[in-house]
Amino acid sequence: MKPDVAALLDVQADDIKLYGIEDRLSALAPRLSALELDRRKAMDALAQSREQVTAEEKRQREISDRLRQHRELRERSEGLLNQVTTPREAAAAMAQIDQAKRFIADEEREIEALNARLGEMRRLVSDREKTLADIEQVQQETRLTLDSDRGALEKELAQIRTERDRKAQAVPRSLLQRYDRIRQKRRATAVFPLRGESCAHCDTAIPMQRRSTMVATGATELCEGCGVLLYAAE
Ligand SMILES: [Zn+2]
Repeated sequence: MKPDVAALLDVQADDIKLYGIEDRLSALAPRLSALELDRRKAMDALAQSREQVTAEEKRQREISDRLRQHRELRERSEGLLNQVTTPREAAAAMAQIDQAKRFIADEEREIEALNARLGEMRRLVSDREKTLADIEQVQQETRLTLDSDRGALEKELAQIRTERDRKAQAVPRSLLQRYDRIRQKRRATAVFPLRGESCAHCDTAIPMQRRSTMVATGATELCEGCGVLLYAAE
């Protein structure tokens, strides 16, 4: 193998390490966006149950007002009943008291049911507050971990890049440019040896004359089958 090719293979080994680190770096962001999505869902759910509580509290106030009015009506009618002078007035006051009592009974039942519902809704609110707080905590911890992961990966990336650039100086410019063009499309191993008569990557056979030239001069050739750069290992 020519030293040019050996130097190129060294560069390629670093490039493959770089791809791996870049992949790990770009996998960090989706983890954060997934958590952010969870947080938004939890916030929406919480807002929804808070609205329900507010609406029920409003209803509770309305019924309480009606209940108070009907209790006052009952008291007034009872007072009236003590002052009536005719049976007709007495009957009217009694009818009013009965009606007020029915309203009061209905409203008391309604308030009781409403209080039970409100209790459940408030529990749901506090459950959802806890869920949201838990997610926010995980999010914060994850962010810290990811920041430190990212820092470590970026440091490693910078080191390998420096090393890679240093090694690349040993590769003739035209060969390096050829290699860089291929890997812009492939972003994977771009230089392969001949294996027997064929490309070690795609198994396309290489005509004998081209092979002999490669063996004799150490020249590299593009594979017509898959476009990688081929070299003669021996
Ligand atoms: Zn090939």
